[in-house]
This record gives sequence, C-alpha cells and structure tokens, in this order.
Amino acid sequence: MTFEEIREMEAGCVMQTYGRVPVALVRGRGATAEDTDGKTYIDFTSGIGVNALGYSDPGWVRAVAEQAASIQHMSNYYYCEPQVRLANKLCAAAGMGRAFFCNSGAEANECAIKIARHWGTLHGKTGSRIITLNNSFHGRTHTTLAATGQAVFHKYFLPLTEGFDYAEANNLDSVRALVGEDTCAVMVEMVQGEGGVVPMEEGFIRGLRALCDEKNLLLLTDEVQTGIGRTGDFFAYQGYGVRPDVVTCAKGVAGGLPMGVCLCTEELAGVMTAGMNGSTFGGNPVACAGALEVVDRVTDPEFLAQVRAKGAYMREKLRAMPGVDFVRGRGLMLGVGLSGGKDAHQVLLRCAQQGLLVLTAKELIRFLPPLTITKEEIDRGLSIFAQVLAE
Ligand code: PLP
Repeated sequence: MTFEEIREMEAGCVMQTYGRVPVALVRGRGATAEDTDGKTYIDFTSGIGVNALGYSDPGWVRAVAEQAASIQHMSNYYYCEPQVRLANKLCAAAGMGRAFFCNSGAEANECAIKIARHWGTLHGKTGSRIITLNNSFHGRTHTTLAATGQAVFHKYFLPLTEGFDYAEANNLDSVRALVGEDTCAVMVEMVQGEGGVVPMEEGFIRGLRALCDEKNLLLLTDEVQTGIGRTGDFFAYQGYGVRPDVVTCAKGVAGGLPMGVCLCTEELAGVMTAGMNGSTFGGNPVACAGALEVVDRVTDPEFLAQVRAKGAYMREKLRAMPGVDFVRGRGLMLGVGLSGGKDAHQVLLRCAQQGLLVLTAKELIRFLPPLTITKEEIDRGLSIFAQVLAE
C-alpha cells in the first residue's frame, strides 16, 4: 500500500486516539528505519524506548523465530522454560526475588499496586492509600491513571480508582506530609518520562527509601521507561544506590514484543498467591525468548558502560548546539529544552521531514535511541537536529 492509502484507511477504521506523524515505517536495521517510499530515518525514539537492540537485531530475530517455530504460546496452566529462565535472570540482575509477567507497563504497575494494597492488609494498615508524585505517568488503565499525578489525563474518565495522594517530586517533606496510618506505599519513576524527562535527585530517592523504612511503607519504582539499561544502569535505582520493594518494567524488556514485568523482593514473595493475579499472554514464550536476548546483552557491564558513554557524548554535543537551551536526563534518556520559543511538536515534524525520528515530552524534545545506536548514527542524527534548529 502507498502511504496515502494507509493514511486514508486508518482514518476510516482505527479509533483516532493518536496524533500521528505522517510517516509509515516498513522496515529497519540498527537505528535506521525505512518508510513506504524508501526514505530512511535515523531513529532517536526506538518506538518510545521499546526497540532496545534496534530494528531487527540478528540475535534477537533468531531467538524469537526459533521460539515461534517451536511453540508460540502455552497457557499459564503449564510450566514454560523461557519464562522461568527470564524470571531467574531478571531477579538476579535486579536483586529481586519474584517476577510476575504481563503485557504492558500499565498492567505491571497494576500488579505493583495490588501487591502494595494486599501487603497493607496483611500488615495491619488501616487503609491502602498510595503516594505518587505530581507530573508522574503510570499508565492508562483506570487505576494507573489514578496513580498518574496529572489531572489532564484524568478528566475524561472519572470516577477513577480511589486511594492516591500526590506529592511534589524531589520534595521529601511533601511526601512525609501525606503519610498517614492508611498509607501503604510510595510509587515513583526514577526519571519522569512523559512528565518531561525530569530526573529524581539522589538525595530524594535515598530519603524516600529511609522514609518508607521508618514508616513501614513499600517503595514501588516504576521503571517502565527507565529500566533495562536505558539510563546506563540495568535498573535506574541501581545508579541511585537504593533497592525498592517492588519494581516494574516493560517497554525495552522484550526488545519490541509486548511484555510487562513486576518484580518484588523475596520478602514479599508470599503476598501474591494462586488465583490472585493472572494474564493470558503474560510470560508468552516468544516474548520471553526475545527478552532473554535483550537481558543477556544489556546486563553486560561493558554494554551498560557504552550506554553511559553514548549518553554523555550526545549530551555534550547537544549542550554546544545553537538552539538548545538545556539538556537533562540519564544515559540514553535525554530531554532537550529549546531556546527561542521553538515549538517542540513543530521541530519533531520538521525532523521527520529531514530524516530524523524524535519524541516530545511536554515542551521538550525527547531522545530514547536504541541502546545499540552507533556513534556514526548519533552524529548523523544530531547533524539533522542541528540543521532543523538552525532554520
Ligand atoms: N509507566 C511509565 C513510566 C511510562 O512511561 C509508561 C508509558 O509511557 C507507562 C507506565 C505505561 O506503559 P504502557 O503504555 O506499556 O502501558
């Protein structure tokens, strides 16, 4: 189909929930994608942080294809070797004890919230309130929307799930002020992604850990966007020197296949028991085979060092670029503030015309390139970005 045929058909049969860029991608390799007309793009998005190893990485393709040719799905009535191996690897890499598999970040956060609420009832809490942060983003289900501290996402779908209180990010006093007898947990992103690439300060995260210990609360970290090497640590909390009680991931974990994971410490292993949670597709063997390839590669310390080095390189080049006001983020999760009142969405559209795919987050341009991006691809992408900013 031509691009116009695709666009016209989409307008007539797909719910119009996305403001799309006028591009239809058909294939890719590494950090380079190709559209219906054969035009190529440097990809600084990796599908919103999903294609961790880039497009169609040969090792990932082999792992997924071999698994699909052997058995593509089985229900969770049965034991599944790729699922067990993946849980084992993720727990070891995260310093956690148990994994629950589902299909998206929102579902993984639902599981984290269920763990916190049931743990609260087992530990004499008078209620099940959870403190999250203003400007956070935790997903689109009714409960994760309620956890999201941004009214703009709430307004169409009231009433939402009850029991969430919103504190100021990077303000421990604001969290402390909300803790009551009926609070069971605090849930945070290490770097707020959709909220505009806002990193949490190390003192804040360490302080939160200490506050949770003092008040007997669970610390839940939503690493749906920051996890699996994105920030230069396997999980971002590892770079902050704390261990949460529960951590969620999704996006990059299976390298492009749908997967969400909720991990909890061994101390919490008994909170969720048979029949308390489930997912038809959760821990699907093909997704797990892809994830095993991603996790094997990303846990290599040299791979993580490369992510940090590439992030530092991009940051340095961006800081020196005319039109860039500031750069923030960690590793290969970068937010770029534009000077001169430039509109981020217009810059995104112009970049696409010029052959560079970027994201926005609030009024910032956001870069989440594949973790395997090469220096040459970074240079090509940044030179397009510089040209667009110079226009
Ligand atoms: N949590 C965070 C931090 C996210 O960035 C996102 C998605 O952007 C989600 C949760 C929701 O993930 P999903 O869209 O896979 O449900």
